[in-house]
Amino acid sequence: MTFYLKYRPQKLEELDSESVRETLKKIVSSGSLPHAFLFEGPKGTGKTSAARIIAKIVNCESTSLKLRGPRKIEPCNKCEQCLSITKGSNLDVVELDAASHRGIDDARALKDAVKLAPATARKKVYIIDEAHMLTTEASNSLLKTLEEPPSHVLFILATTNPEKLIETIRSRATSVSFKKASVPELVRSLGRAVMGEKIKIEKASLEIIAKKSQGSFRDAVKTLEQLVSEKRSLKPENVEEYLLEVKSVDINEFIELLIQKDTKGAIEVVEKASGKGVGMENFVENLLARLRLALLTKVGIGSEDLPQIKKEDLIVLINLFSKAGGELKSAIIEQLPLELAIIEWGGGSPKEEPGAEAESLPAQKMIPIKSGMIKEISEAIWKDILTQVKPVNTSIEALLRAAKPIGFDGTTLTLGVYYRFHKERLEETSHKRILEDVVAAVLGVPVKVICTLASPPQKKVIEEEKNESVLTEGEDKDIIKVAEEIFGN
Ligand SMILES: [Zn+2]
Repeated sequence: MTFYLKYRPQKLEELDSESVRETLKKIVSSGSLPHAFLFEGPKGTGKTSAARIIAKIVNCESTSLKLRGPRKIEPCNKCEQCLSITKGSNLDVVELDAASHRGIDDARALKDAVKLAPATARKKVYIIDEAHMLTTEASNSLLKTLEEPPSHVLFILATTNPEKLIETIRSRATSVSFKKASVPELVRSLGRAVMGEKIKIEKASLEIIAKKSQGSFRDAVKTLEQLVSEKRSLKPENVEEYLLEVKSVDINEFIELLIQKDTKGAIEVVEKASGKGVGMENFVENLLARLRLALLTKVGIGSEDLPQIKKEDLIVLINLFSKAGGELKSAIIEQLPLELAIIEWGGGSPKEEPGAEAESLPAQKMIPIKSGMIKEISEAIWKDILTQVKPVNTSIEALLRAAKPIGFDGTTLTLGVYYRFHKERLEETSHKRILEDVVAAVLGVPVKVICTLASPPQKKVIEEEKNESVLTEGEDKDIIKVAEEIFGN
């Protein structure tokens, strides 16, 4: 279980946001709960945690709310009801994500369900996340229920966009505002995980993590968990480096390499950063923050331009690295998504080399054939070469899939390689020797292989998504697969 789930607050006192804690305590202590709450605030500020605590308070078996009196407002967290709510298995506490339950059927289901009495709990609690995403039908159905609420039902609506919720619903719910967490609140929240896991960490380190978490409890705990699970040093200076506060990697230099389409140089920066213990998520975050400033400047907001790069290219870079950032979590090799992004960016249009254009002739203009045996490298022969290379060296096979034969004169095979980085890998002596051996075996004559840069196959833009320059799926996959195989080895 992640730290975030394991150490999420289980009672009001554990809610780390002081204002939310005090507001909810006051409401609960009053002894009369509203029929509907509206929890509004940004992601990761503890809305769902608070909603579950409320669900426990109204259903805790230890004693009824009234009997507990004003000072005994917390759930026991031990009874059947409390435990099943913590586990998310309580039949009467229903968590819905409005973003994915938007249809009229859900609206009807909601209307019908609220009529029924709770199965085992005192009250049915509906926690509706992203409530502003409900369809009009669902909203109207919810509104009707809120107009004449059955006494056994409690609604807790959570939303990041309260202004999008219809006013009549808002006016019938008791609003609680969740704000971005302050540094002391974040440190307090981290404290639970630190105690629970018996982590030895200074307060200064926790404050560094808190400052970098942009007010999100979830992000703060996630960072701590990353540091611990990757067995990083927790000393403040190391934590700072991990979070890239200290400029151990110069993001501007990295951007410069990207602008120059220096794929090799850019990948080396990533390798170096990773070697130094810089977290890749933070690397991407810093990169995107810088690119964003430049983009905003291009449209007239701010003064952080990168004059060497066009607005359109900036958008491409931001998209590529946003995608890479999203893939970091599931990446088997930490730096792989970034390397893919770099190759996709730099590889698409390799740095111009004198003569490179002239060398990448289309296949039909090929050199006269001297060998009587093989006249040209047909698709079948090329496939055969790939098949034969694979068992010897999978990296080479992967590299060859981002290349094409562009010339064969009987003794020399010229390969057009789409990406500079791949070309350099193929030209490494050991790789070249293996490749030449296999080609010779397939063609039945000794063959020398030379590599040159060639343009990759045209990337088709899907018509209706032209503005976003969406690549055809097949080619995207190819590039990614190739890179995975190269780096996976
Ligand atoms: Zn209980």
